[in-house]
Amino acid sequence: MSDAAWTRPPSLWAATAPVGPDCPPLVTAETAEVVIVGGGFTGLSAALHLAEEGRSVRLLEAAEPGFGASGRNGGQVNPGWKPDPDATAKAFGGGAGGRRAVAFSGGGPDLVFDLIERHGIACEAVRPGYVQAAKTPSGAKLLRRRVESWARHGVTIDYLEQGDASELLGTDAYIAATRDPRGGNLNPLAYARGLARAALAAGAALHGESAVTRIERIGEDWRIDTAGGSVMAQHVLICTNGYTDTLWPGLRETVVPIASVIAASEPMPEHVAQSVLPGRHALSDTSREMFYYKRDEAGRFLIGGRGPIFSPPDSGPAHRARKMAVRLFPQLARIGWHYEWGGYVALTPDWFPRLMRPAEGVIAALGYNGRGVAMATAMGRELARALTGEETALPITDGLRRVPLHRLYKVGLLGNKVKAKLLDPLGI
Ligand SMILES: Cc1cc2nc3c(=O)[nH]c(=O)nc-3n(C[C@H](O)[C@H](O)[C@H](O)COP(=O)(O)OP(=O)(O)OC[C@H]3O[C@@H](n4cnc5c(N)ncnc54)[C@H](O)[C@@H]3O)c2cc1C
Repeated sequence: MSDAAWTRPPSLWAATAPVGPDCPPLVTAETAEVVIVGGGFTGLSAALHLAEEGRSVRLLEAAEPGFGASGRNGGQVNPGWKPDPDATAKAFGGGAGGRRAVAFSGGGPDLVFDLIERHGIACEAVRPGYVQAAKTPSGAKLLRRRVESWARHGVTIDYLEQGDASELLGTDAYIAATRDPRGGNLNPLAYARGLARAALAAGAALHGESAVTRIERIGEDWRIDTAGGSVMAQHVLICTNGYTDTLWPGLRETVVPIASVIAASEPMPEHVAQSVLPGRHALSDTSREMFYYKRDEAGRFLIGGRGPIFSPPDSGPAHRARKMAVRLFPQLARIGWHYEWGGYVALTPDWFPRLMRPAEGVIAALGYNGRGVAMATAMGRELARALTGEETALPITDGLRRVPLHRLYKVGLLGNKVKAKLLDPLGI
């Protein structure tokens, strides 16, 4: 990437998150047991969990912790994945493996809120549940099926008919909704920076402005180079998700990066704020062109959706999202919109994340399909478990699972079938 590409866009989160800890660039030759490439939730969580186990860890981030999707997202801490638990269990082989995968898919929020509490991370975290809402009978049917599927796995999710959904959300746009009590929402950049502080306090070394330029096998170990320094390590964890470049041959082709954009309003006047998401629920809808939204502590309304296909995410104004906000909540018609920004979500064709070992001593975790606040945090802990000899919740596959016809994905996005499948990153 060019230097300009490592510049953070102005966003609500950049304006409101507490400043991050000092993470000086790597300028020396070092050794470590583990090097982590990428300082988003995956890398930071892995660094924290490894450091807590007394491992020597160095994290190398091209810009600063939280620079990628982790510092730009909608802040929704969502349990579960796009595939329902039954489909998840089946995809992971049924039996004990399937049950572990389902528990993992639903358990991310517990880990996030536990870390926030344990490390005293100030990030506007609230846990009123996660809402999905449907405008059509087919969407409502899908939600009902999801409730039934979770019930078979011992989890109760509320199903709300139209009247109750309207009361909960403050909009009459939906005919049904679900509320999953495990979910919540937060300021994601504040959370990322809090994880960085916690990892540093636990003994990890964190370097910003340290893009890894090369990973090379030297005997039994790996040599990891940046422009200013290098580290010799036994293990390398690659945690670059939608910001994966050509660093490790073929890794970029294992996910499809898709832009998602968000608009944030000025703080809503009190009389408006009372009627818009009064319980501070975060929501995503089941429409084909999916929108997700929430409000922050100061009463700003945030809404996100699909970004531009052929240009960088920050170049695509979120006007469709803003328009949708007013359609859902007409009382927002006169609101001012103060911030717009975007980032890359990493999709996989089957909607499941990837935990892969491309070479002995190297593990990559990515492909969260727009649900990485909880999932990437949980995957970071799995990476730490993999290195401390514990069984991981998901199997680590050897080699790389490339997306077929990866080069054509942007063209494919314009085709109807792929468009329907890939353009609603947070949808169901
Ligand atoms: C606009 C938007 C809205 C979203 N909304 C939600 C939401 O509400 N809820 C939810 O659960 N998920 C959401 N997501 C998805 C979620 O943000 C991601 O899944 C999650 O942050 C991924 O974390 P990560 O650590 O794997 O990757 P990232 O946070 O993207 O971090 C990867 C890091 O790798 C670094 N990097 C890349 N190459 C190198 C290199 N060569 N050397 C060193 N560092 C490198 C990058 O600078 C980057 O900081 C959203 C994403 C976007 C873009």
